[in-house]
Amino acid sequence: MPFPYAIPTTTRFRGITVREGVLIEGPAGWGEFCPFTEYDDAESVPWLSSAREAAESGWPEPVRGSVPVNCTVPAVDPEQAFRIVRDSGCAAAKVKVADMPGSLPADLARVEAVRGALGPSGAVRVDANGAWTVEEAVHAITMLERSAGGLEYVEQPCRTVDELARVRRRVDVRIAADESIRRADDPLRVALAGAADVAVLKVAPLGGVRRALEIADACGLPVVVSSALETGVGMAAGLALAGALPELPFACGLGTASLLTDDVVAPEEAFVAVDGVLPVPRRAPDPVRRDALAADPVRALWWHDRLDRVSALLP
Ligand SMILES: [Mg+2]
Repeated sequence: MPFPYAIPTTTRFRGITVREGVLIEGPAGWGEFCPFTEYDDAESVPWLSSAREAAESGWPEPVRGSVPVNCTVPAVDPEQAFRIVRDSGCAAAKVKVADMPGSLPADLARVEAVRGALGPSGAVRVDANGAWTVEEAVHAITMLERSAGGLEYVEQPCRTVDELARVRRRVDVRIAADESIRRADDPLRVALAGAADVAVLKVAPLGGVRRALEIADACGLPVVVSSALETGVGMAAGLALAGALPELPFACGLGTASLLTDDVVAPEEAFVAVDGVLPVPRRAPDPVRRDALAADPVRALWWHDRLDRVSALLP
């Protein structure tokens, strides 16, 4: 039986204040189906493939037992940014920038505070979610690099692969592609060559751990595994990918459990990084928490309907 859940976020993130999804169980364990509510049914198909893989076949054996993660700093003021980073214990921080037009002065203050909390040896990375034009990106990256005292990489500065390539030719900072990577097409390697130095992969929108491993191979770039703001059930899929990749040169973006106010897994099983590191075992929901976090009847019906419609679209 599928279990729709609803969990408030700790801060507005990606425009949402409640994270919703469905937990499904199969012979191999639990999977999480949680495409964002604005996604249409077709876009939700890989998310269901990913949840089904977890429930029905499980994942490849990991080659490492733990992975380093970054902490995530939303578009908050410098004091709060400093606290988030200091309290996380992580050596890498991913900072949201370009949250709204004209945000650059606030972005500069935020990365400066993050550097202060991390110290000189920490890694500051920023994510613009495709918000900038090429000119805006070149200007902002130059300024941000100065305020941050060095950037590890800039994630998705502009929307298209072509724009990423144009920015990359004009700045010294590494460019990471995130939203640009959603398919494992043959031209992927060619398209990304010259456009990006790092590939950010998320298991659910790519259709599962095995599919993401193929894409990692196809794109020919170092990979950073990131979450899609899942509960502990879905997060385990990201950790399975990070655990199974042959190389893992950067910290992963899987330290996002703290962005949700609660979790369907037991507190001692929640993926909360200790000293910036997370373990890779998988998780089952705790029945009591799962029921306490159940979506209200109207939202539950909406998710059951969505699950039925998207299931009908599975290959
Ligand atoms: Mg991103």
